[in-house]
Amino acid sequence: MRFHKVSAIVLRHYDFGEADKVVVLYSEKQGKIRAVAKGARRTKSKFGSSMELFSYNELMLYKKEVAELYKITGCSTIRSYSDLRKDLDSFVAASYIVELVNKITEDNEPNPSVFSMLNEAFSQLPVSDRDLIRWAFVIKLLAVSGYKLCLDRCVCCERIAKRAGNTVKFSPAQGGIICPGCESRDLSALNVSWAYIDYFIDFERKDFSEVNAAKINPAHRAGLKDMIDSYLLYHLSGELKTEKFIRQWA
Ligand SMILES: [Zn+2]
Repeated sequence: MRFHKVSAIVLRHYDFGEADKVVVLYSEKQGKIRAVAKGARRTKSKFGSSMELFSYNELMLYKKEVAELYKITGCSTIRSYSDLRKDLDSFVAASYIVELVNKITEDNEPNPSVFSMLNEAFSQLPVSDRDLIRWAFVIKLLAVSGYKLCLDRCVCCERIAKRAGNTVKFSPAQGGIICPGCESRDLSALNVSWAYIDYFIDFERKDFSEVNAAKINPAHRAGLKDMIDSYLLYHLSGELKTEKFIRQWA
């Protein structure tokens, strides 16, 4: 048996057995892990209100060599991010982010960039343009997960893009822009304004507070949303539940 001290953010939890909960965590050093909070659904649980959705905690975990799940033996909250649970817009945006991380990452594959991005995005969300933070998170997460978009050169032939004309083909399937010579490689590629490509480049390079400073008009917002939705739809098997909720709610 082994004890581990872990810093982690709560991505989701679900009921387990009679009185327990399984908490899905994104930890700084071990990536995504699952742990049982014994008796967490009892009124007098020792976990109390700790380990709430989105919260950043320091946990003591215990695991037998062969056991699949960690068991939580202690927990203290470092940052509750309670603002994200008090306001519906923030809650929805944060839910979108944790659902995306849960879907894209594999268990026990460490990626400290994802952990710090979660903390940065959660700090920024309550005081920011939530769509921009959400979209920047998508682009950054894909970049650090091995799906970096190819935006300065053609994703097929790798020739540096020449910015002739106002628009360019963007291929969600290939993961980048396509030059006129390679258009036949993806006939379903979107025809998009170069301005959108520049926003994507900024989303990846700039930190969340800088991204928030961008002023984007409604037409550009709709275009960016289409690009991000198409790209995610291609790379995830189906739409995010939170995305469906946002659409129905709007
Ligand atoms: Zn090409």
